[in-house]
Amino acid sequence: MKIGIIGAGQLGRMLALAGYPLGLRFVFLDKTPEAPGGQVGQIIEGEFDDPAALARLAELTDVVTFDVENVPEAAVREIAEKVQFLPPVGALATAQDRLSEKRTFSALHIPTPRFLPVATREALELAVTQLGFPSVLKTRRMGYDGRGQRFLKGPEDVDDSWEALGRMPMILEAFVEFDTELSIIGVRRPSGDIRFYPLAENIHEEGILSYTRAPYVDGPLQDTAERYSRRLMEHLDYAGVLTIEFFVEGDQLLANEIAPRVHNSGHWTIEGAVTSQFENHIRAILDLPLGETRCNGHSAMVNLLGEMPELTDVLSLAGAHVHDYGKEPRPNRKLGHCTLVAPDSDERDRALSRLLELAGRSLR
Ligand code: AMP
Repeated sequence: MKIGIIGAGQLGRMLALAGYPLGLRFVFLDKTPEAPGGQVGQIIEGEFDDPAALARLAELTDVVTFDVENVPEAAVREIAEKVQFLPPVGALATAQDRLSEKRTFSALHIPTPRFLPVATREALELAVTQLGFPSVLKTRRMGYDGRGQRFLKGPEDVDDSWEALGRMPMILEAFVEFDTELSIIGVRRPSGDIRFYPLAENIHEEGILSYTRAPYVDGPLQDTAERYSRRLMEHLDYAGVLTIEFFVEGDQLLANEIAPRVHNSGHWTIEGAVTSQFENHIRAILDLPLGETRCNGHSAMVNLLGEMPELTDVLSLAGAHVHDYGKEPRPNRKLGHCTLVAPDSDERDRALSRLLELAGRSLR
């Protein structure tokens, strides 16, 4: 069997690494032959909406999936007629647009921060009078890792932010004074079988995930997150891995966004869970039995951003596993990650603190 992946970033690379032991082979579509997936599979070079490149990907493979969300919907609708395409195009389309994402949360009674669609400068004026300051202005499309969003502290930020974000359709969100941020990773087979990983706690810096710890042990929040995720996956007739990111406010979960794919906050599952999110995504899109999602201990995952720390230093930490994506260094670029697995959370946190120091950051 051959799996096609639109996008050959680190997520695609890790999907392929998880699929090789199952006897699967991988073909990627990406703009650049140097993308990380190229180290472990063939890359067809092309834009994500290049009809000839997409047709070739469909020809060469049995199932097509994606490791990026910003794939034009019309292009994938076409490919989905030629080859099995999962997760479903409808789920991708919902996640690509912050407004349809939020409307889906609301329709499914999944709490989300208060928001208003903002199509024009005048609409923004009105929206800030309703939601007040601070608030967060986000482009509807193409936002990731803190890009495409601005925090509005007061009226003086409105003009600048509207201009800086490109005067395009946006949403304005109420600022949430969250206690922490959590994510739930669920996986569903086309036949309906569903599994969930334990909640993970995520610390962002400048909109980019800095580190994740799992499991985040809270029975009631785990149940609530699973209920929301199940509702969403059933609504979307989903197949594959789906992530929901939440803000925690007291005992409430507010859904921030969904990712219809494997997620950075699930990288710890490679060594920290019985079956990784990557393998489970592949099992799901092939409608194979899903793997156990239990933890092997207490894990932390630190993103290695901008430059890689000394390998010897990192590997001298007990329970450390390094993943180097083979990317050119650039400020704040995700070049790799390191997962620590420890028998208890205290030991994990001590090692995490040292690892963060090596990465030039600190525990928060
Ligand atoms: P996003 O691109 O929506 O995932 O946002 C990236 C990060 O910005 C989130 O993980 C939060 O840390 C922060 N953020 C986004 N929206 C809000 C909000 N409405 N209130 C407070 N913080 C937010």
